[in-house]
Amino acid sequence: MKVLLLGGTGEARELARVLVGAGVDVVSSLAGRTTQARLPVGEVRTGGFGGADGLAGWLRDHPVDAVIDATHPFAATMTAHAATAVRGTGVPLLVLRRPGWTAGPDDNWHWADSAAEAAELLPTLGSRVFLTIGRQGLAAFASTGLWTLARCVDAPEPRPSWCTLILARGPFAVADEIGLLREHSIDVLVTKDSGGSQTAAKLTAARELDLPVLIIRRPPLPAGLETVESVESVAEAVGWVMRMGGSSSD
Ligand code: NAP
Repeated sequence: MKVLLLGGTGEARELARVLVGAGVDVVSSLAGRTTQARLPVGEVRTGGFGGADGLAGWLRDHPVDAVIDATHPFAATMTAHAATAVRGTGVPLLVLRRPGWTAGPDDNWHWADSAAEAAELLPTLGSRVFLTIGRQGLAAFASTGLWTLARCVDAPEPRPSWCTLILARGPFAVADEIGLLREHSIDVLVTKDSGGSQTAAKLTAARELDLPVLIIRRPPLPAGLETVESVESVAEAVGWVMRMGGSSSD
């Protein structure tokens, strides 16, 4: 069995590892945005397909038995393109999307539908900001006038002058996150609802320090995707592939 795995996430890497170990032929696809990307095991292709039509063409040229979209919950364009491309080709599609974060009783969370809405709300919550939304969407916060520490994996181009930038890749430890928040006297944290454990330490740190957190909601799933099978864990995705006919050495 051969699977195209749209990746760029820890779950996609883990899924590739398990499937390859079970004898499934996996082609992982990466957008190629980050320098020094952590590569999954198995075959890897890099770069965009050229829209939904480009992906449909790729699927015709490289027949696979299934496509798994394990991209980041905020990679809505790729998810929409995958749904459109498989509709024309008849290849089964599974979406693997980790659950979003849920506030506990001691959390002080505020929600926004977009980076622009979050930037508008931000001055009501604090004046020294820790912005952890990645490179994309950073520009929306350029004119808040608030002191901002932004953390990204790779530097945005051009490098913004309106914020202090730190480059780092998770996972992060709670003690380090608390130290960082204290060191810069941060009084509000901004994040996207990425979910997962890799970058959740900042939420625990904010809770410990009693800081408000402003969270950007996930983009809605593209129209038509309600009918596509979707799971929340790597184990469920493995089960789906095995039911499709993937062999297992276990
Ligand atoms: P996006 O906005 O949904 O996609 C933009 C375009 O990038 C797509 O139309 C496609 O180009 C290309 N692309 C995206 N993912 C691809 C993949 N896995 N393989 C081949 N091409 C891909 O995506 P994004 O939000 O920029 O994210 C890019 C990548 O980074 C994704 O793989 C995602 O899993 C990963 N990532 C994203 C975030 C985030 O916050 N957005 C966080 C962590 C990791 P064509 O139209 O030319 O095919």
